[in-house]
Amino acid sequence: MEIKSVYSEIFGDYQRDRKTAEEKAERLKNEIYAKAPRLGEIDAQISILSTELFRESMRGDSTAPLRFREKSNKLSTERQNILKGMGIASGIIEPEYKCSLCNDTGMIDTKRCSCFNKRLAEKYYQLSNLGNILKKENFDNFNFDIFSKEPYKSGVSPYDNIKHIYNDVKGAIDDFKNTPMNMLFYGGSGLGKSYMCNCIAKELMDRGYFVLYMSAYDLFQLLTDIRFNNGTDKDKESHRLINECDLLIIDDLGTEGANSATNVEFFDILNIRLRTEKSTLISVNLSLSDIGTVYSERILSRLLGCFRIYEFIGKDLRIFQ
Ligand SMILES: [Zn+2]
Repeated sequence: MEIKSVYSEIFGDYQRDRKTAEEKAERLKNEIYAKAPRLGEIDAQISILSTELFRESMRGDSTAPLRFREKSNKLSTERQNILKGMGIASGIIEPEYKCSLCNDTGMIDTKRCSCFNKRLAEKYYQLSNLGNILKKENFDNFNFDIFSKEPYKSGVSPYDNIKHIYNDVKGAIDDFKNTPMNMLFYGGSGLGKSYMCNCIAKELMDRGYFVLYMSAYDLFQLLTDIRFNNGTDKDKESHRLINECDLLIIDDLGTEGANSATNVEFFDILNIRLRTEKSTLISVNLSLSDIGTVYSERILSRLLGCFRIYEFIGKDLRIFQ
């Protein structure tokens, strides 16, 4: 699936859902009307009445609507009584749409229905490389209590530190539409960096943004394949998504074995995203000074200049879980 076709896919899904609901209602109606032919006659009479009403109103007969209403109410009551006698709720032969707000059109007047964003998020989940992990790792399950309240080396406790990061992250998410969210999380492994990345991913996808997650290993593997082997069609598609997505998450930078060729590509990706004001989130297991050594000074200076930098501190949380 390509990001550009996501919208047309969603509208295709709506169309399919509408058709299913309408066909189901039609089938039910046919079954019921076969058992009670009078219902068909009533529908036909109501339809004739509306035509007459239209004609007489055009002629200027002001009593027409009243007469129409009386007759049609009588027919509707008869219809309801027949259905009731059969033990059938009268609404059952109406199509049952998944969303009663927009009747599965995705639009209310000229605005997107809330169900549209939900469908968009589902598509983005499929594209994001994250899938099921977001069911566990999200802000709803975020547990501050696993962070120690004992002051760490810098004098700040991991608990206060994560609270500070959490608040900044939430603020950046709320302002995502206006300001690119460029953040770098660094620190040892098991301190909650990837978890925080996943929380951010889910929150933004639920708000209708396209988030792409890539481990640094996969990202650099992809860049290498494209550079040296031209890459498969799927590689090229992924490469396009890397540039197009609203938020690119590069997780676990520093573990993939960078080289001078991938450094150039990495620098390009950063630059393109910064230039097009698209957000990038990086988690890295290196100290800041090591980033300059493993990658390059110009990558480090880009990161220091354009990213908000957060250190994750404390002891490996996974030992305590
Ligand atoms: Zn809707």
